[in-house]
Parts: sequence; C-alpha cells; structure tokens
Amino acid sequence: MTRAFKKKEIVVDRFADLQLIRYEVKHFDTLSLQQKKLVYYLSEAALTGRDILFDQNGRYNLRIRKLLEAVYINYSGRRNLKSYKALTVYLKRVWFSSGIHHHYGCEKFVPRFSPEFLREEINKLPTDKLPLREGETVGEMVAELFPVIFDSNVMPKRVNQSEGEDLVATSACNYYQGVTQAEVEQFYERQKDVTDETPVSYGLNSRLVKDDDGTIREEVWKVGGRYGKVIERIVYWLHQAEAVAENEQQRRVIESLISFYETGDLKLFDDYAVEWVKDLDSRVDFINGFTETYGDPLGMKASWEALVNFKDMEATHRTEVISSNAQWFEDHSPIDNRFKKPLVKGVSAKVITAVVLAGDLYPATAIGINLPNSNWIRAAYGSKSVTIGNITEAYSLASQGSGFDEEFVYSKKEQKLIKRYGHLTDDLHTDLHECLGHGSGRLLPEVDADALKAYGATIEEARADLFGLYYMADSKMVELGLLPDGEAYKAQYYHYMMNGLMTQLVRIQPGAMLEESHMRNRQLIARWCYEHGQNSRVMTLEKRGGKTYLLIHDYEALRSLVGELLAEVQRIKSTGDYEAARCLVETYAVKVDKRIHREVLRRYKRLNLAPYKGFVNPLIVPVYAANGEIRDVHVLYGEAYDEQMLRYSRDYSFLD
Ligand code: ZN
Repeated sequence: MTRAFKKKEIVVDRFADLQLIRYEVKHFDTLSLQQKKLVYYLSEAALTGRDILFDQNGRYNLRIRKLLEAVYINYSGRRNLKSYKALTVYLKRVWFSSGIHHHYGCEKFVPRFSPEFLREEINKLPTDKLPLREGETVGEMVAELFPVIFDSNVMPKRVNQSEGEDLVATSACNYYQGVTQAEVEQFYERQKDVTDETPVSYGLNSRLVKDDDGTIREEVWKVGGRYGKVIERIVYWLHQAEAVAENEQQRRVIESLISFYETGDLKLFDDYAVEWVKDLDSRVDFINGFTETYGDPLGMKASWEALVNFKDMEATHRTEVISSNAQWFEDHSPIDNRFKKPLVKGVSAKVITAVVLAGDLYPATAIGINLPNSNWIRAAYGSKSVTIGNITEAYSLASQGSGFDEEFVYSKKEQKLIKRYGHLTDDLHTDLHECLGHGSGRLLPEVDADALKAYGATIEEARADLFGLYYMADSKMVELGLLPDGEAYKAQYYHYMMNGLMTQLVRIQPGAMLEESHMRNRQLIARWCYEHGQNSRVMTLEKRGGKTYLLIHDYEALRSLVGELLAEVQRIKSTGDYEAARCLVETYAVKVDKRIHREVLRRYKRLNLAPYKGFVNPLIVPVYAANGEIRDVHVLYGEAYDEQMLRYSRDYSFLD
C-alpha cells in the first residue's frame, strides 16, 4: 500500500461492462487536524450503511453476497477454471450493483456458471462459513437462493417502468411486500393533505408491507426499527463527528440528522434538510441518509447513500459566478413569465473533492448533486448544489486515448472542438444543470408536485439539462468569463446530441428500451430537436462507409429548438400536465432505434471499452498518538477492488 497516487494505476479492474478506477483526494493536507478527524468519523458513518442498500435493492441480495463471498474466500480449486472465473465476475457485479440486478439497466444478471458448480463448491465448505439462518439446512438455503440466482423468471427486474403493468408487483426491489401498486397509491393518497404547504416526503424512509390479516403498514428505517442495528452504528459515528464539528451550524446539521435517525420522523428529516442547506461556511460536508428515489418504481422510497467531501476552493469560484447571477438567468429564460420565480433564493454551488463514496453513490457515482429534493424546502430555503471535481477529473483521465471520439465523431473538425473544449463545457453544463436548472421555475399554485407521476423524473432531468444547454450558448457565458469564446458551446452541443441520438445506447442490451430517467431525458432532448429541425436541416445523420454520424449544420437554430423545448417542458412541469408529459416521454424517450442501436453496439464492441465506470475508495486511516488521541489522518491508495469489497463486508456487515 502506497501513499502516493500513481496516474498509471488509475484503472483498477475491468470485467463485464464495468471498469473500476481510482480518484485522487488532492489538497487533503490543507485541512486542519480537526477537519481531518471530522472526515474520518463521517467516513466511518458512510461506510457503515453499506448493507442497507443491498437489502433495499432486493430481499435476497445480502444472503447471496455472503454465500458467494464464502465460496470466493475459501475456494481451493484451480483459479483458471472457467466456472470459477465466471463466479468471480458474477460476484464482482453483485458488489458493484449492491445486488443481483444491473445498477443501471435493472435487469437481473445471468450467471455464466452452473447451479451444479455452485452447489459443489458450497458442499465443500463447513456450515459455519455459510450464511445459514438459525436451524436452516444447506439444502433449504440452496432451495431458497438458487431460483433467485439462476431462474430468469424469478425477480427479473429491480425497477420495472413498463406502462400498464403493476409496477410494484413486477419490481424486485425491496420497498414493498405483498401490496399492489393501487394499494400503495391509496395508502399514501390518504395521508396526503393537499392544503399542507410544507408536506413531508411521504413514504421516504420505510418499507410498506401487508400483514397476513390484510393490514398495510410501514416498517420504518430507524433506530429500533428496520435496519436499526446499522442505523445505531451510524448514529455512533455521527456523535463522534458532532464533537469535532467545524462550527455551530454544522453541529446542528449532525444533531438533527441523529434525531431523524432515532425517531424516523419525516418532519425531523425536513428539519435536518433545512439545517443542511443553511450550512454553507463549513469546509467539510457530507450526505448520509435516505436520499434519492430512482430505485422505487413509484419514486417515493429513498435508497441509502453517503458521501464525505470538502470544498475545492479554486474550482468553486466558477460555480460562485453562476450562482451570483442566478436571477439574471431566471429572468432571461425562454419560458412563460408565469412559470418564473420572481425571486430565486439561495442557489448555492460549490465544487467538492470526494473522500469517500458509499451506498447508492458507490462504486458508481453521480458527478453532480443537488439537494434536498423536497420542493417546498427548495422554494423556501434554496438548495445546495455540488460538482464532484475529482470524480469528473478521474473520468476524463480514464477516457483519454480510448479512441471513442475518433470512432463516433463526424470529422476532425468536431473532434478538435471536443478535445479543446470538451472537459470545460462538460463541467460547466453539469454546474448549470445542478446550480440553476433544477432550482429554476415554479409550479402554479395548487399544482401537485407529483402530478407527472412516473414521468416526473425524466421531465425534471430534461428541464435541468435544457436549461444548461440553452445558456451554454449564451453570450453571457463569455461575458462572465466562464467560456473562452463563442465556439466552445458547440463542443457540448455536438457531444450531447451525439450521445442522446446514438452513443448512449451502448449502455443497454439489444432489444431493450430506455428505462433510466437520465438516459430517457437525453434521448428525449436529442430526438425532439432532431425531428423538429429536420425540415430546416438543423442536424442530420450521415452515412459514411457503412457508419452513421451526426452532423450539426446550424448550431444557432439548434439553440432555438433547445429554448422551445425548454419552454414546453417547463409548462408541463408548472401546470402538472400529465398527459403531455406522457406523450413527450413515450414518443421520444423510451423506444430505441433498433438499427442505430445494433450499429453502435457493433462499433463500440471493437473499441473494447467498458460502458460503465465505478470507483475504488481511498482508505481513510487515523494515526494515533501514544495517549490514544488521533494525531493525523492519512489518505491511502492502492487497494484492489475485491480487497476493498471483502474488507467492507468484513468490517461493515451489520445485517443478516
Ligand atoms: Zn439532475
């Protein structure tokens, strides 16, 4: 294990459709000892929650992981045996996804080893190494888990979004048990009070179950409730962190999070979110809790995630320029004046350096985060928006020289544009999306925030992306010093449209449709602009040597289309026009052009790249003085992917 970060060691592992890379924690030494201790305690709180997500993603995930780990650790056969190698890949994928379904596509993994092989390996192990329940036999365990692993008809999708089906009953995620979609909707409909101006996020922190006698009730995730054993440990580390908080406000943040974890009271969760938004002066910051709802087909229940980070002072300057001009952007937006915020409040933004990723942010992570999600808190207190600078940097380093742009970009001219401005405009688009996009606009009075139902997430992501794309091409960007010239935005436009029309399809299987809301949103924007600009030849798809390329003829006209679509998407959101949302998403965002999909997959395959990336965390290690006090904290690199996963399983396993 070395302390230095070696650039050539950035790629850690490569299997299936995944690549694991390292990220570097620069400037850690500029933190004070107290801040370093804070980072350490928060890191432990972050890593402690790992098992929660495995269980949320599927009720058998933890047992399957433990079973496979037992085989992996104790294996004594030939390492180059095909079946063993296949089992290794399967386990690595389970680690990556926190479960047996693909982290992005949600489809269940197909093991490339046989049930017989696994059964043989299990039989070689002493029973105390197996994850057996009290009184359970090996045969009973096998009978329960094997169909889940091997039968493609059992729990085929983690999150099912297909229109017209019972989304609750057909999704394998563990947020509901024994209830139908209609029962869930009824249960929460009854709780909702439409006159409440500060509604809690109903159902956010619980599993909804139907008892044998037909009663439907919530199992709340809290100390003393479901996941109580894990949450107790998280609270322990939060208490340690509280003692070394940087200031009074940050102490309040940690205290209110502890109160929420102890009670499960969603009102207290909102209190915590408000305190968290107000904490702007601390150098160290964190996320720890039930946060995003993408893993629930109904978008209510939140998966557990955590992130520990500190502010990158230099890069934050860029986002501060954007934030301090928030009102200008709102006023000049191409949307109907009725949907604009007269006063944009508290749009804060910063670039951060990640120290630890955990839960639903590990190993695959977002590069930008905007929280809290509660609409009324955003309206009343604003939101905090971050770009994770060292993660985007790691992505960029890993993709250099991959040959991707050379294969898919139309000509040297566009390639040069992307090479010159690509990284800068990518970061800027993320900033605009997070700092301004999500925070802009408003709902008309009495419009239900959930009116767009299953289409809400795609529409919301499209709104934020369009806002970013629209302003990227504005002369204000050059004026504010955010872009060097009027050409730079073209790199982003080209890359965005190429991705939305073609290259993002490398992430899904042949024959599949788009399910994930970010992917849907990108195709929605690209396809809508493509089709609406067809008559005036704004952009075309050109064939050359049997390959399809995107050619943008008129960037300014494309910007007008972006503005037009932004106005419509904002109208849909502001008025809660469910029918228009459904129509837009179903027409442009779901179905895949099969011919282009096949072609893109073929070309991509030849590049031998991994469509998904994830990250191995550094180790955050306290150094103790003779008196038992922490005298320093070190950041160490060099851990292998399986090494890290097995260590986490050993040190942070609190659920059966
Ligand atoms: Zn977003």
